[in-house]
Amino acid sequence: MTASPLSAHLKALIETDGPLTVARYMREALLHPEHGYYTTREPFGVAGDFITAPEISQTFGELIGLWCAAVWQQTGSPTKIALVECGPGRGTLMADALRAARIVPGFRDAIEVHLVEASPRLRALQRETLSGTDVTWHDTVETLPNAPSLILGNEFFDALPIRQLIHRDGMWRERCIVQDAGNDALGWSEMPAPADLVRLAPSALIPAEGDIFEICEDGRTVAEQIARHIAHCGGAGLFLDYGHGKSAFGDTFQALRGHQYVDVLEKPGTADLTAHVDFDALLESAASGGCTCFGTVTQGQFLTALGIEPRVQALVGKASPAQAATIRSGARRLIEPTEMGTLFKAVAIAAPGVDALPGFGPPRNRSMRETGAFSG
Ligand code: SAH
Repeated sequence: MTASPLSAHLKALIETDGPLTVARYMREALLHPEHGYYTTREPFGVAGDFITAPEISQTFGELIGLWCAAVWQQTGSPTKIALVECGPGRGTLMADALRAARIVPGFRDAIEVHLVEASPRLRALQRETLSGTDVTWHDTVETLPNAPSLILGNEFFDALPIRQLIHRDGMWRERCIVQDAGNDALGWSEMPAPADLVRLAPSALIPAEGDIFEICEDGRTVAEQIARHIAHCGGAGLFLDYGHGKSAFGDTFQALRGHQYVDVLEKPGTADLTAHVDFDALLESAASGGCTCFGTVTQGQFLTALGIEPRVQALVGKASPAQAATIRSGARRLIEPTEMGTLFKAVAIAAPGVDALPGFGPPRNRSMRETGAFSG
């Protein structure tokens, strides 16, 4: 049984437009105005489909808030700075970051909060979580104000639609979604791949028969837009997500419902759909937008470098034994290699001239503007 309210709509789309790319399918399944996953469901937490770092431990947002404060100071403590979050979910990370921001004199007063969120339902939740805070919402990063900006995203890029190339008989084809003949189910098909997509496959990797390469065009576009904004207005960006540090082959398109992996084509609109982030590609786009790039470092390394252990100790000191156990196990979950510590990674980008950022080693590129290669 694969039907869902979205199934009829997808069937009609396939009848009129032909096979759907994975990206088109993902976009419809996640953000369809009536039946999309983010527009209709409560994805987060124990009762939802998945749980994210800010929902596991308050230390996550707090440490990111302190990271922002340090970068603000590093960039000369501007009197106004946009604190931006892309895909803020329930708004928990932002709330925790703003609480921590108050510790650093002058920082909280300099902050203007901007959220980039596609789902009206989640915007309403964010408004609740952040009640008492002035917030401006945006559909895309293109309308952010012309001010120095700190731009955050946790599990944002993994939600952006991917396309899949598959290697067959020595050439790339595109995996697409069709209506299975004879029944109502959706199925897979392989179509000729457009040349502009094939051009994005990595030339340094030699594919074997059946290898899949995933391309997140929207992710590349957004990363470049964010980088242009930061390169032009000043500031930095910090993105945490699961994925691979080096571009690689593999099918990482996945669906989660009720904390279980399910078939990506089953009951579209009722499960969260994501793919691993190709951090190499993300940072390449950010570099072409004019930013200096840092990372990847693992989430475990990053949070440890920012001081998650002392923060846990401070919280535990004021907690009951039961609360202390929850605080400790939450933090462990974020940093342990067998939990989220290694699969999840952090990258950062910064305006030209910023040579170091807290939690990261030396930059992997100098910005293209500094090397004279950037003309924008
Ligand atoms: N950062 C949150 C939520 C992650 S889920 C957390 O860590 O808990 C992904 C978030 O991105 C959701 O808020 C979803 O609505 C939002 N989102 C997905 N696609 C988007 C798009 N194209 N533009 C803006 N937001 C998007």
